[in-house]
Amino acid sequence: MTRNRLRLAIVGAGPAGIYAADILLKAERNFDVSIDLFDQLPAPYGLVRYGVAPDHPRIKGIITALREVLDRGDIRIFGNVRFGTDITLADLKKHYNAVIFATGAVRDASLNLPGVGLEGSYGAADFVSWYDGHPDYPRDWPLDAREVAVIGNGNVALDVSRMLAKHADDLLPTEIPQNVYDALEQSPVTDVHVFGRRGPTSVKFTPLELRELGELRDVDMILYDEDFDYDEAAKAAVSGNKQVFVIDKVLQQWRQRSVGEASRRLHLHFFAKPLEIVDDGHGHVGAIRWERTAPDGEGGVVGTGEIRELPAQAVYRAVGYFGSPLPGVPFDKEFGTIPNHEGQVLTRDKESGDARQMYGVYATGWIKRGPVGLIGHTKSDAMETIKHVINDLGNWWRPESPSEESVIEMLETRGIEWTDLDGWHRLDEHEQALGSAEGRKRIKVVPRDEMVTISRGEA
Ligand SMILES: Cc1cc2nc3c(=O)[nH]c(=O)nc-3n(C[C@H](O)[C@H](O)[C@H](O)COP(=O)(O)OP(=O)(O)OC[C@H]3O[C@@H](n4cnc5c(N)ncnc54)[C@H](O)[C@@H]3O)c2cc1C
Repeated sequence: MTRNRLRLAIVGAGPAGIYAADILLKAERNFDVSIDLFDQLPAPYGLVRYGVAPDHPRIKGIITALREVLDRGDIRIFGNVRFGTDITLADLKKHYNAVIFATGAVRDASLNLPGVGLEGSYGAADFVSWYDGHPDYPRDWPLDAREVAVIGNGNVALDVSRMLAKHADDLLPTEIPQNVYDALEQSPVTDVHVFGRRGPTSVKFTPLELRELGELRDVDMILYDEDFDYDEAAKAAVSGNKQVFVIDKVLQQWRQRSVGEASRRLHLHFFAKPLEIVDDGHGHVGAIRWERTAPDGEGGVVGTGEIRELPAQAVYRAVGYFGSPLPGVPFDKEFGTIPNHEGQVLTRDKESGDARQMYGVYATGWIKRGPVGLIGHTKSDAMETIKHVINDLGNWWRPESPSEESVIEMLETRGIEWTDLDGWHRLDEHEQALGSAEGRKRIKVVPRDEMVTISRGEA
């Protein structure tokens, strides 16, 4: 008796997509598997390559583990192929039994603040994409502000503040592209102000990442005594929660430091709710206006009516990421995710309005559960989704052209210049060679056409 065979497409070669493929290949199952992994970018690894900060080599090192999965050779990669333009849901139905969407979240969540559209007001996601050398973002970034405000109290706000405050030479050992080094080197920044509307015991920073801020060369950490008059709820959080305890300890240590010697300062403003990004009179950011808040006794805050203002020539909004809709796939506009039950995609029944399973379609990673959590969380996510892919065997699509060759024919007919695993190896070696010529480990190639040409061996 011939065994069933699952031809599976995974869209998104970030950690979620790669873990899903790996888990399925290793899972106990009574059918064979053939997986094709598509990504719109010429190189795999998603936000590990294009989100994780370049001065986090340990986290960037997760790429080595993901690469080992791909190097086994039992997953085909098609990079530089965008779902929605190069391939559609109808194409996938024609060639596969099922698809898993692992497309993550790459955009900034919106922030409704007067002045948000001024010149000099930036989304953190755009800045991250720039310094991490994302091919679809402009090469130039206007780093002309002396005083910068960063809105947000999560790890992305820490990354952005650190990258803005750090001296460019201290980033040279990392893989930052040359244009990023050149721009950071010219930056006149002296003060980076980070704003959070709650108190120090309610931040979303993780302790390790927070501690790093205090280790920057020639950067003073500035904290304000008025933020450390803890109420009972804050005191209870410090004594009852290990993470809050460590965060408080780090902040208290910084408060004891003598400051004044460094050429740059990183200020943490708590109980500060941004109200407006103020126009300098020429359509450019000139200041940030905020309201001082106070604890409400239950772990939240209320406005005090006291309004303050600080000069700033640039404002960065680090208030979260947001997923993007995919053509033909249900989308939850409120949460920026694909509606699903444990990874099984749900659609609304046109007549009854009830949610029902969209057979053959699955989701995993940030597009499944929203842009929160670390890379490791995408593994448990993938396990849950794969369990359903396996159990749903009777409900898979029945493709008209399930052969592996038929997909290549489709891409070739459309003139799509896809990149594959060998191509990634070529690009990887090229980037390392660029780095070693400068005494560095790697220098990233940024332009998409250059990435594609190198990957396809056409350079
Ligand atoms: C700034 C920042 C810093 C971070 N730092 C850390 C850290 O230090 N440590 C940590 O553990 N986690 C960190 N994270 C979190 C981590 O990056 C995520 O948990 C993880 O990347 C989510 O994985 P994912 O595969 O769901 O999405 P992604 O990594 O975003 O991968 C999605 C992939 O889908 C592709 N894709 C999207 N749309 C399409 C389409 N239409 N067609 C084809 N392909 C498509 C994208 O190109 C991308 O490659 C950070 C996140 C950010 C934003």
